[in-house]
Amino acid sequence: MIEKIDTLVIGGGQAGLAMSYHLKRLGREHVILERGRVGQSWRSERWDSLMFQFPNSSIQLPGYTYESDDPDGYVPKDEIVRFIERYAAMIDAPVRCGLRAVALRKLVIEADLENTLVQGDAWFASLKKRMDDYAEKSGLAWSEEKLIEDPPPSLPRLSRPITELDLRSAGISSVVWCSGFRYDFAWVKLPILNDAGEPLHQRGVTQCPGLYFLGLRRTYAVSSALLAGVGNDAAFIAEHISTRQ
Ligand SMILES: Cc1cc2nc3c(=O)[nH]c(=O)nc-3n(C[C@H](O)[C@H](O)[C@H](O)COP(=O)(O)OP(=O)(O)OC[C@H]3O[C@@H](n4cnc5c(N)ncnc54)[C@H](O)[C@@H]3O)c2cc1C
Repeated sequence: MIEKIDTLVIGGGQAGLAMSYHLKRLGREHVILERGRVGQSWRSERWDSLMFQFPNSSIQLPGYTYESDDPDGYVPKDEIVRFIERYAAMIDAPVRCGLRAVALRKLVIEADLENTLVQGDAWFASLKKRMDDYAEKSGLAWSEEKLIEDPPPSLPRLSRPITELDLRSAGISSVVWCSGFRYDFAWVKLPILNDAGEPLHQRGVTQCPGLYFLGLRRTYAVSSALLAGVGNDAAFIAEHISTRQ
């Protein structure tokens, strides 16, 4: 079946999912492209012992509040990953994982999941080797138990991945970048960045019709890049998309 979508959301973190919630609410067909997995940053870019920095009672995304017997407690980051996963399932978010957007005018997509996972495994293997070497050099007891494992099995190749999408001919009139508040948009060849490479926008709306940013620091308020705050800007952008089409 051929999909008909009018909005592309780049990034399947909390911002991309909040965006999806509000687009759905307004009946806008859309797809989320995610280079890894839903909530990838909370999975791979947070240290293991990180605790969410706000109490459990504050954990929420549009239409979904975290349930806890301990509203004043704090959860570890893995619980945030589970919360984001549950949210994606609850709103039935149309996420396509393993696809990384790498250019904008004509959207170029790399079917990157295999590569990303292989690179991650290689990095982890080299870390384990360094730990083993250190343990051996220092005569630590655990050097008996080598951490080095066999290389992971290779993943099946993706069949016919999409690698290029002509936005106009695909009927896509809006693109919302929800790729995190740390960014490098040097490859964006549109007049939407200032000299420092920062996106120019008003509450996420750029001067390039149909192009939006969500989840940037202070997109609108201090809470714009936070879990509980991103939904307000998502609602605003969804309304903007809805009224211009
Ligand atoms: C260390 C740390 C601790 C934090 N702690 C808290 C906290 O306790 N409470 C709180 O409210 N906030 C916290 N934040 C802030 C914020 O909530 C998180 O940064 C959150 O991850 C932002 O969500 P996001 O969806 O905007 O971006 P991200 O979670 O970064 O999601 C972006 C997604 O886009 C994907 N992506 C990126 N580029 C592309 C591309 N080109 N193509 C396809 N996919 C792409 C990524 O894989 C990722 O899944 C913390 C941030 C950091 C860095």
